[in-house]
Amino acid sequence: MTSTLTVTGLSASYGLASALKSIDLRVEKGRCVGLLGRNGAGKTTLLKSIVADPEITVRGDVAIDGRSLRKLATYKVARLGVAWVPDTRRIFTRLTVAENLDIARRRGVASDQLERVLEAVPLVRGLLKRAGYELSGGEQQAVTIARALMSAPDFLLLDEPTEGLSPLIVEQLQASIARLPEIFDLGVVVAEQNFRFVTDLADEVHVLETGEMVWSGTPELLVSDPDLVDRHLSVG
Ligand code: ATP
Repeated sequence: MTSTLTVTGLSASYGLASALKSIDLRVEKGRCVGLLGRNGAGKTTLLKSIVADPEITVRGDVAIDGRSLRKLATYKVARLGVAWVPDTRRIFTRLTVAENLDIARRRGVASDQLERVLEAVPLVRGLLKRAGYELSGGEQQAVTIARALMSAPDFLLLDEPTEGLSPLIVEQLQASIARLPEIFDLGVVVAEQNFRFVTDLADEVHVLETGEMVWSGTPELLVSDPDLVDRHLSVG
């Protein structure tokens, strides 16, 4: 049984430009881990490093239950149960939502997975017949998350799911994401600039600043320390 994703001493760079230094991270199934940080802090790079994005040169290790993912291609990391939802929400615009979900189901995944996913992300149920290009940004985000869940992953990496969305849809997404770890026994990593979203959702929070992990702890501890928030997360 897969249970823990670990990142150990991870440094990452784009060519000669360093983007992450000595990052350690541990994500257990059934838990939600939040990554906070200003623009350019390295949140996206960390998620991309976990899924072995070929654009990034990585040192250190990423492993699931001790099995290293470092030398694997991105599609193999996905096969081992790590689903990545990029901030670009790449749905197939010419396909219906039902088709978008159907092509994402991995071989061997139970046939009732669609029903389980629709229960977990109810916003998607009413969209099944719609074409991808007809969806609003928030609907696209919900469909992208649902599509990632269709492969029955063990770990789900969400990059800025609230970016550009209205408060109402953010609230609906938050309610859905909050239930995922328990419903699917899933480890969730959510990278965000939206402080409230992450501190409401996550069991533990890590703060990144210019490529370094500068703080880790519970959301309650972070919320109760306005100086810390001001130092590492406030803008301007
Ligand atoms: P945002 O909230 O803006 O997405 P982030 O915390 O996700 O920020 P990253 O996108 O991981 O931050 O960026 C970390 C650093 O890596 C930044 O200095 C950024 O300029 C740099 N970087 C990101 N993508 C590339 C790239 N394709 N080529 C070169 N440098 C990059």
